[in-house]
Amino acid sequence: MAPQREWFEKDYYKILGVPETASAKEITRAYRKLARELHPDANPDDPTAEERFKEVSAAYDVVGDEAKRKEYDEVRKLGPLGGMGFGGAPGGAGAGGFGPGAGSFNFQGADLGDLLGGLFGGGRRRGGGPARGTGPQRGNDLEAELHLPFREAVAGVTTTLHLTSDMPCGTCHGTGAKPGTGPVVCQNCGGRGVLDDNQGMFSFSTPCPACGGAGTVVTDPCPTCRGSGIERRPREVKVRIPAGVDDAQRIRLKGRGGAGRNGGPAGDLYVVVHVDPDPVFGRDGRNLTLTVPVTFAEAALGTRLTVPTLDGGTVTLKIPAGTPTGKVFRVKGRGVEAKKGTGDLLVSVQVAVPSHLTDEQRQAVEALAATLPAAPRQHLGV
Ligand SMILES: [Zn+2]
Ligand SMILES: [Zn+2]
Repeated sequence: MAPQREWFEKDYYKILGVPETASAKEITRAYRKLARELHPDANPDDPTAEERFKEVSAAYDVVGDEAKRKEYDEVRKLGPLGGMGFGGAPGGAGAGGFGPGAGSFNFQGADLGDLLGGLFGGGRRRGGGPARGTGPQRGNDLEAELHLPFREAVAGVTTTLHLTSDMPCGTCHGTGAKPGTGPVVCQNCGGRGVLDDNQGMFSFSTPCPACGGAGTVVTDPCPTCRGSGIERRPREVKVRIPAGVDDAQRIRLKGRGGAGRNGGPAGDLYVVVHVDPDPVFGRDGRNLTLTVPVTFAEAALGTRLTVPTLDGGTVTLKIPAGTPTGKVFRVKGRGVEAKKGTGDLLVSVQVAVPSHLTDEQRQAVEALAATLPAAPRQHLGV
């Protein structure tokens, strides 16, 4: 993930279709709606839907998280680079600016993640782009998709993901050197990784072109990875999906992404979960939903209703006389178990209308209608 650079360019609020003042709830609601609409499963013939789905997920990843949203709002206040200015660039490159060790002045190539990392005190925000030549590099973040049956999503599951990704080379164990040899100190820079270039009153230092800033070079490259230390190969990742995961949720598995280079840490693995629908139950966050048809007589006279629970049991509800269609009955604690507490089972009763009536039934309904007040629509005024 290299989102910080995108923070300047992307209006996550606009992507989610909410105002910047939207509450966390409104943001979540907007996100859920879009995620449902744009879900790749729902749009198999529309490749742009998947792109938008990812965009929406990425947006929610930031503004759906209170802390990240705060940072994002701060960053946007600074404007696209304008507020930062080169002179005031924060962090190590800032104060001295022109002294040795300040790095190159090619700010276009500078990693905003690092700059912002200095700004916000989070050293963890390194981008991991391929163009970074110097020192240890963090591995790439990866994203994988996982389809889960409804009940496994509710209960949590341990499963295996099959990925193809950058791994430390199996032949050289990531050193890039042919087995039996090792990296040697770079002759060009004497192991410093940078070269000084005195130009009048300023001393510039640039990354050593011979070793790419690493300070060491491999003279005898590993034949398997041609010296990169990285090999692309399939691997299996065991993941524990927590109970109560929701459709379109992204789960971050720290350090399970692509391998780092030059001793850098591995990236993270993001698992995007797709939850298959259940024929009986629905989900609304931590709550389970269940729609139960009742007859007009049951709704009018009242009844006892026995309904299933997700764990295979049943629960009996008392439906009072005069229950309107669509009324929701809450069964406490029979929803999804989650860290924040177990949700409820929301039972919605729907009055079912028979599509065919026998003569006898028609007469009975007509007799009933004759005793009921006139149509209950007078308030519409037509
Ligand atoms: Zn190798
Ligand atoms: Zn060098």
